[in-house]
Amino acid sequence: MTAPFPFGDAALDPAAQRKADDAVYRAQLAYLFERSPFYRAKLAAAGMAAAAAAGGLDNIAALPFTTKDELRQSQQEAAPFGTHLAAARNDVKRVFSTSGTTGVPSYIPLTRRDIADWVAIGSRSYSRTGLAAGEALITTYNAGPFVAGLALESFQNIGVTHIPIGTGNTERLVTALKLLKPEAIACTPSYASYIAEWARQHGWDVRQSGMKRIMVAGEPGGGEPDMRRRLEEAWGAKVYEAMGLGDIAASLWGECEAQSGMHFSGAGFVHVELIEPESGRALEMREGAEGELVYTHIRREAAPLLRFRSRDHVRVWTERCSCGRHTLRTRCIGRTDDMLIVRGVNVFPSAIREIVNRFQPKVSGYIAVRPAKKGVKQEPPLKVAVELTPGAAPDAQLAAAIADAIRSALVVTAEIVLLPSGALPRSEYKSKLVDYSEAKAA
Ligand SMILES: [Zn+2]
Repeated sequence: MTAPFPFGDAALDPAAQRKADDAVYRAQLAYLFERSPFYRAKLAAAGMAAAAAAGGLDNIAALPFTTKDELRQSQQEAAPFGTHLAAARNDVKRVFSTSGTTGVPSYIPLTRRDIADWVAIGSRSYSRTGLAAGEALITTYNAGPFVAGLALESFQNIGVTHIPIGTGNTERLVTALKLLKPEAIACTPSYASYIAEWARQHGWDVRQSGMKRIMVAGEPGGGEPDMRRRLEEAWGAKVYEAMGLGDIAASLWGECEAQSGMHFSGAGFVHVELIEPESGRALEMREGAEGELVYTHIRREAAPLLRFRSRDHVRVWTERCSCGRHTLRTRCIGRTDDMLIVRGVNVFPSAIREIVNRFQPKVSGYIAVRPAKKGVKQEPPLKVAVELTPGAAPDAQLAAAIADAIRSALVVTAEIVLLPSGALPRSEYKSKLVDYSEAKAA
């Protein structure tokens, strides 16, 4: 079957894709045994002395996971790229980095083919929104050393008129909206919301821009129904969500015009699994299943990873989308890293925001979870600061109704603190949903 969509998107049905991926995966395993000291040692420790012992995709759950901590350790032991570097130094043509939490950046090397593959994957993700040559697009990423730079090359590959603005200059951005009238903008959901608010305060309505597509990524939020509705109303445009992961590919998922979850874009390049985060148990990819995404490169030269824990907690859909594509779809529920455990119950701050947003227009959409102590484990009630819309007065009934909604949906007792409009910080990049400033040592 030939591809009905651009950039090789959904060219094969799932069974045929799986068969093709299995062959590529076996070749990748052979490459790892030959080229990657990291995986040779790791797989040998798991009882696999050669690629044949690891089998194919049907046996992948028997392989050990790879974590970000292991990659950091590998890069400390063998600076700068680690023992998981599988290509010759000369063949590394691009080095991205992530801002490490310890102050030492983590490096992500790419060969020429890796770069082309990432651009191909990203082109699938973004073109699904309907974005095509002939349209103009504003980007707001200060890509710098980060993999977001590859997203910009995907936009170029699609053939759009690219208008890079970056973050930190909303006035320049709004001027570009007025004068250049682009059809699309790529930004975080937080920034899309901030731009609309900033423009309103400066006497202009972004709905006058003629914007068609708001392409959001970088944090959960674009997939939350109420936040999406609010952004679509503020801009008079459609919101499309995309998601990637630095160590795997700049963009791996992207929503189509049906807006019913992000389609997987990595077919032929990356294999994806779903696991239960606590136990690591592989979960069946079935309609509505929830768990953490785990990725395996099946065609990567510089730093191929096996069963990499993404820490992204998602819901998946396996049925064919109304757009005609039959690739796995997903919606991010939250980062496993942001998750709090309140008396044994897993709570994602983004899920709390989703419920609070049902109370619009009384609330502004900005919240902050303020845990009483440091760490993941918390005792109820969980304090949640909720910002009101301009002019709204604090109202005990509203606070009680929000707490009730959170209790019935998430089985968590919350203490709601209503704050006046503008009390919570705005972000041009990602909203911080958890604020530990009131937390005592655990
Ligand atoms: Zn679709």
